[in-house]
Amino acid sequence: MRPSPLSAPPADAAARKAVRPVICYPTDTLPRPDLAAYRAVRDGLKLVETVVVPPRDAATWTVPAGHIFRIVSSEGAQVGDLNLFNARDLQERLYTGKTRALNGTHVGVGDQLFSNFPYLRPIATITHDTLDWYGFDEFGGSVHDVIGTRCDPYTHNLLSNGGQYHHCCHSNLTRALAKATGLTPAEAEPHVHDVLNVFMCTGFTRDTGQYFMKASPVRPGDYLEFFAEIDLLGCLSACPGGDCSSEHSSDTARCYPLVVEIYETPRRPEGWVAPNVNGYDRSHGL
Ligand SMILES: [Zn+2]
Repeated sequence: MRPSPLSAPPADAAARKAVRPVICYPTDTLPRPDLAAYRAVRDGLKLVETVVVPPRDAATWTVPAGHIFRIVSSEGAQVGDLNLFNARDLQERLYTGKTRALNGTHVGVGDQLFSNFPYLRPIATITHDTLDWYGFDEFGGSVHDVIGTRCDPYTHNLLSNGGQYHHCCHSNLTRALAKATGLTPAEAEPHVHDVLNVFMCTGFTRDTGQYFMKASPVRPGDYLEFFAEIDLLGCLSACPGGDCSSEHSSDTARCYPLVVEIYETPRRPEGWVAPNVNGYDRSHGL
């Protein structure tokens, strides 16, 4: 917590604070997907693969461009930490910072997930969410945030006076990525990135701006559904925090598996074009 203000407010403090905010990235300039066209291909989905993510562990899958995948709550309220990579190039991966700047703190139906520089293009589009009824609650909380980072053993070590815990999402993702790619854990670890917190219910406290979590409203059968814009390698950790109602970075919380379902679509969405990498020429004024 910060100390009380050290600086006296200026005479026009109230006027300065009353200035209305403007949206940084107005959505009328952001190309939006034709959601109706995407949703039209949901009729006739064919399940082609099911992957079970064990509790306090992670698993990977690949999904070709044009397919749909779902992250499904199976046995109990459980939060998942999602990493996404270009299946052909690990250097291209989910960029939660810009995804957040473009869409908002939490993502939902019709939002697109963007990749890092210099690629910066949509790599997945959210086509269904059984928790979209939740919206924002009275605390400012909502589900599926792109604001958290992932629970990790380094922060745990910092906050627990030297504690060692090996099943944080960061470590789970590292092990699973190493297994999927043949990289050593030390080589795989730098590819693990900030996550989409699937099903997690989070926000910022209004008075202190602190990141908070609360028990996820997810129940078995709920799912978040994505259309793959490019060939994707997905990596998902079933967080040791379980429903994240109390704590993570320990074996205390009740944890459940998550299920990933991969579906073939009967056709491409009408008018859909595979996204090209970003068009900036990368000369940076030189
Ligand atoms: Zn976690």
